[in-house]
Amino acid sequence: MIDIHCHLEKMRDPLKIIKEIQNRNINVITSCASIEDADKTLEFAKNKNIFCSLGLHPTEVIKLSDKDIENYIELIKNNSKDIVAIGEVGLDYKWISNEKDQTKTKEVFIKFIKLSKELNLPIVIHSRNSMNDCLKILDENEAKKVVIHCFSGNAGQLKYATELGYFISINTILTKNKNIKQAVKKVQMNKMLLETDSPWMDPKSVGELTNVPWNIETLISEISKIKGISKLEVENITDKNAVEFFGL
Ligand SMILES: [Zn+2]
Repeated sequence: MIDIHCHLEKMRDPLKIIKEIQNRNINVITSCASIEDADKTLEFAKNKNIFCSLGLHPTEVIKLSDKDIENYIELIKNNSKDIVAIGEVGLDYKWISNEKDQTKTKEVFIKFIKLSKELNLPIVIHSRNSMNDCLKILDENEAKKVVIHCFSGNAGQLKYATELGYFISINTILTKNKNIKQAVKKVQMNKMLLETDSPWMDPKSVGELTNVPWNIETLISEISKIKGISKLEVENITDKNAVEFFGL
């Protein structure tokens, strides 16, 4: 089992969680979304069963100077051997509504797309109320290995993303969101990845920081019902997808 997107640095007791991940022999990719968390994230990834990606959440982008962002891109380049992806990066129009800030996040998003191509690493996309712009920018900038994290777009957006060959990451809140359920029905198994975004997105208590990577197990069981295939098949196919996509 592989949780392709979680945030160990945001968990109350990351070392305990890492132990449990190892005991259960699952694999996770912990995703760094701010400069302050980069060192900690790289440190986590030295543990067995833990991989990491480095990115910058759009709400972080608007707080930083161009120089800060350039320095961070340098840091990512210098650590590129120890990461499996760039991300999460993207656009967030829920939290960023003014045009000037949105423009800045678009410019920085393009820089990260270029970086992922330069380093030949996958790019993990954060998109909130901004799916059309995200897909357009990825398409225009010929992004190569793309996964849309916590996909919750509509049918048209799903079609556009999958036609571009992008992977769709299904989150543990599947049962709470009809767009995600639709996506599971429509997306081909060989384009699907699984994630918790833990500690957020606990399907049992949305809004609380209680989600954990092994909740992927419940997700697998939900997907197996929707797709009408066995849990083992869901697990095997999505594991294979993750191993190949991220080069784990
Ligand atoms: Zn995330």
